[in-house]
Amino acid sequence: KRLMTRGLPKLKAIQGVKQVIVVASGKGGVGKSTTAVNLALGIAANDSSKTVGLLDADVYGPSIPQMMNLKGNPEITEKNLMRPLVNFGIVCMSMGFLVEDTVPIIWRGLMVMSAIERLIRQVDWGKLDYLVIDMPPGTGDVQLSISQNIPISGAVIVSTPQDIALLDAWRGAEMFRKVNVPILGIIQNMSVFQCPNCKHETHIFGADGAKDLATKLGLAVLGDIPLHINIRKTSDNGQPVVVSQPDSPEANAYLSVAAAVV
Ligand code: ADP
Repeated sequence: KRLMTRGLPKLKAIQGVKQVIVVASGKGGVGKSTTAVNLALGIAANDSSKTVGLLDADVYGPSIPQMMNLKGNPEITEKNLMRPLVNFGIVCMSMGFLVEDTVPIIWRGLMVMSAIERLIRQVDWGKLDYLVIDMPPGTGDVQLSISQNIPISGAVIVSTPQDIALLDAWRGAEMFRKVNVPILGIIQNMSVFQCPNCKHETHIFGADGAKDLATKLGLAVLGDIPLHINIRKTSDNGQPVVVSQPDSPEANAYLSVAAAVV
């Protein structure tokens, strides 16, 4: 390990945070934020002694406030830091806490990066065992800048089994490799839909694409999350499935992802 990091600049840790896990995807709409939320909750549910935070780095389209049922502006502490909002025991920070819902963020890359830097460093995270970062989709400046400026323990890549999503997931994996961020594995999302009436299973976006990509890249498959209406509804309602239906097969799929990640 020491050999691997020799010659690389030492990255400045986030105050109070032990391990950073980033959740990334090549494409938008594949379930990255839903996975980040349920992963953070799953880590805490699997081991109640662990403290977990969630950072929404998707500044153009923050969805963590709605998914975590949080609203409002962070207080400023005596040390001039923002105090994250908390729900379900998870401390959260998002651009969505700082701007109105319908105000567009019309910013150039540099402004986005300085906003993210603040969302990461000017926050009183307290003591966290894990900070889960919901990355913006793709492999642009922001993703690169996060990967190169904070020490990341590992990245997980979310993809549907569809070819067009897989190609972008592949690009995402290559980006992390280039900047020496360890990739923990791929999470396949929305691979199977089971009809609630007749129980027939349909592979709407393909069956094993993300698993095949993992094999091709020598990466682990961290889980396989079904396409299920409970996941969509609970996310929209701000009652994530891991906390609102902890005994359901959908919640269990996320809990086993969480166990595979940490
Ligand atoms: P991304 O962060 O990749 O843009 P989201 O997590 O916002 O994607 O998910 C996009 C939409 O798909 C949301 O409405 C979410 O509730 C829904 N969704 C995500 N994963 C699943 C799933 N496994 N089953 C059903 N709906 C899902």
